[in-house]
Amino acid sequence: MSEFDLIRAFFTDIGPKRADVALGVGDDCALLALPEGQCLAVSIDTLSAGIHFFPDCAPEAIGHKSLAVGLSDLAAMGAAPAWSTLALTLPSADQAWVRAFSAGFAALSKTHGIRLVGGDTTRGPLSVTVQVHGYVPVGAAVRRDGARPGDLVCVSGTLGDAGLALRGLLAGEAVDPALRRRLEYPTPRVELGLRLRGLATAMIDLSDGLAGDLGHILAASGVGAELDLVHLPLSPPVADVVARTGDWSLPLSSGDDYELCFCLPAERAREVRELGAGLDCPIRTVGRIRAKAGLACRLPDGGLYATDGSGYDHFAAGGDAARLIALRDKSRISAATQSLHSQPSAR
Ligand code: ADP
Ligand code: MG
Repeated sequence: MSEFDLIRAFFTDIGPKRADVALGVGDDCALLALPEGQCLAVSIDTLSAGIHFFPDCAPEAIGHKSLAVGLSDLAAMGAAPAWSTLALTLPSADQAWVRAFSAGFAALSKTHGIRLVGGDTTRGPLSVTVQVHGYVPVGAAVRRDGARPGDLVCVSGTLGDAGLALRGLLAGEAVDPALRRRLEYPTPRVELGLRLRGLATAMIDLSDGLAGDLGHILAASGVGAELDLVHLPLSPPVADVVARTGDWSLPLSSGDDYELCFCLPAERAREVRELGAGLDCPIRTVGRIRAKAGLACRLPDGGLYATDGSGYDHFAAGGDAARLIALRDKSRISAATQSLHSQPSAR
């Protein structure tokens, strides 16, 4: 299959048709109409084989996740998804792989009404870059810099599930399918993000762990926070690891949760809990913003838990960089057995 055949077969009709797309895939540019009074919210993310996913990861999952991470960014601003673009670098024109990737991307596009309007298809080491575009009324976006002392700190869903799945996969263990889904098919909290406009004072999506990501809110807002670890929402397997080891790094500093962390005035706590219940997305108050800088994590026994507050950093020398190195080693092994990497190119 040629590059153009691939595009025609798998990328010309992804997501619902939209009135704000005057021209989509097929010309030199897409033509898009941003409605009056709306700001364009834009975010781009790259997923590279061996760093963000195992090279033998199911292509549907890669298609899903490459869009999910962008949708999660839109959610964290309170923006409504509208358009996506996709830059796909493939080792070869493996039709079955691209079909499955496209199916994963298309299913999530449909769920959120986002239309694929263009992209680029090239040959090289497997890598997927997705840009998402959404809109949010002028002045209504929820930024990182609005947290105020006294605000509550809330999170959606449960924390550390993807991190636990990743740990298991890296150790070569069998991983519970539900846990693995949390890593490979994250659920972007788009509807919740939209409903938090005018309610949340600051918001971020959790891609690198609560401690580090909340740290970005604190830095941008010029405040600190105290977290009550006993209130962190944990699934049974993560709660079990924490109980057995006393190590809170899974819920505090493992990546890929794609839940929302947000702040809001204390008097609106009930409103937001009801909102979560209505969306079938539990929301938990986990701490409070304070004037004093820094993040204090209070243990169930009242003591303080030491965290350096850093999340996953691609260029860090130690700590979580071990994850990157481990993934790379694993990917070398997988690459040798991966048909995608050994097939001659059709291009
Ligand atoms: P050009 O050379 O003018 O940049 P391309 O040959 O790269 O155009 O792409 C042709 C058309 O197909 C363009 O409209 C482009 O946006 C679209 N396209 C290319 N790759 C993809 C893809 N992976 N997903 C969606 N659209 C794509
Ligand atoms: Mg091009």
